[in-house]
Amino acid sequence: MGLQAPRGTRDILPAERIYWQQLEATARQILDRAAYREICTPIFEQTSLFERGIGEATDIVGKEMYTFQDRGDRSLTLRPEGTAGVVRAYIEHGLYSQGGVQRLWYLGPMFRYERPQSGRYRQFHQLGVEVLGSADPRADAEVIALALDILKALGLEDVTLMLNSVGDRDDRAHYRQALVDYLTPYAADLDPDSQDRLHRNPLRILDSKDPRTQAIVNEAPRLLDYLSASSQQHFEQVQSLLEELGIPYQINPTLVRGLDYYTHTAFEFQQGSLGTEGTVCGGGRYDHLVEELGGPATPAIGWAMGLERLILLMGDRPKEPSPVPHLYVVTRGSSAERQGLVLAQQLRHQGYIVEVDFSGSSFKNQLKRANRSGATHCLVIGEEEAAAQTVQVKWLASGEQEQVAQADLLSAAGRSRLFGEQ
Ligand code: ATP
Ligand code: MG
Repeated sequence: MGLQAPRGTRDILPAERIYWQQLEATARQILDRAAYREICTPIFEQTSLFERGIGEATDIVGKEMYTFQDRGDRSLTLRPEGTAGVVRAYIEHGLYSQGGVQRLWYLGPMFRYERPQSGRYRQFHQLGVEVLGSADPRADAEVIALALDILKALGLEDVTLMLNSVGDRDDRAHYRQALVDYLTPYAADLDPDSQDRLHRNPLRILDSKDPRTQAIVNEAPRLLDYLSASSQQHFEQVQSLLEELGIPYQINPTLVRGLDYYTHTAFEFQQGSLGTEGTVCGGGRYDHLVEELGGPATPAIGWAMGLERLILLMGDRPKEPSPVPHLYVVTRGSSAERQGLVLAQQLRHQGYIVEVDFSGSSFKNQLKRANRSGATHCLVIGEEEAAAQTVQVKWLASGEQEQVAQADLLSAAGRSRLFGEQ
């Protein structure tokens, strides 16, 4: 059998990459306008960062990490998510000492050992934002609003914002006890994963997809009823800000994020048509993570979007025509070939997209390829043109053509006459 990409990974071929570029450009523009700045952290980190930052009782740390020993016998892990690395960098570089709020975003591959299916891979990509240093509910509303702006700009119109509050640590400790007390008599009826979580991470049982467990959970005490007055107030402020921003939401009392460090606001954007893989964005507040990883107490909030799922939903959007003329250079004969390459480089320096045919085949075959390439114009240099230092400019759409001096093509006036303003 031939070589194949590892299970759960996929190649993004040039035709699909166009959509990725569009997605990235859109996100970058929206985040730039809100003064978020890009950060890149390593693709692998010390395993202990994720154990401490995500939590040992989570699925990610428990069974999804790609962990290995390097040749120096260090335990390293391919990052399963972006937040832990960003927080590590924030602490390591003392970004908190720059005062004020840090608004950061990142984009890159993440790795989780999961059962691959449509919209679920072992290497996938996330775009994420993190706002560090503000406990203000406006930060919660701002990150949610930006996520929605990005989803809408990509053409996802019918996404639903699901919202919940998981309170603070104290609220959760009280609730956790009430939940365990309620669930214990039903322990034998829970699905095996949930039985396992009953004492390790009972809140995650709320998230179970098993119908029998769900039926039991539906009657369970609600986390929202255990919020302290200040948690309650934060949650109400977030809701009223969303209303002022005109952002509809649904409260989902069983929405709990899978990561231990979340506090207060938890949210997801869901798109109906993707089924269980319908969550395109998930996030929430994590007011204790920075401190848990050794930094100063710093409230924070963020989200991450799964880009493969977004690309699936962006669907077959028409390709936007390139605003820059795209030239295809066809040559025949060694002197013409050399001139063609030099001319191409000079035109590229002027900002044109220039593709050179290296096949050495007949004019007819090269012209066929020019037509398939998506180019707007073909530049033809044969032996006669090479001798006279000229070039035939051919408009591929109309077939019209004109002979011009190469020097003319390289003058600003000549180029703008032939190809329009650059
Ligand atoms: P799920 O419940 O679908 O497993 P999650 O809670 O594990 O999601 P997060 O850790 O919050 O997901 O990651 C944020 C987003 O990243 C998800 O909403 C999803 O769009 C995407 N994502 C997560 N895991 C994968 C994966 N294995 N393949 C593709 N996208 C993923
Ligand atoms: Mg998951």
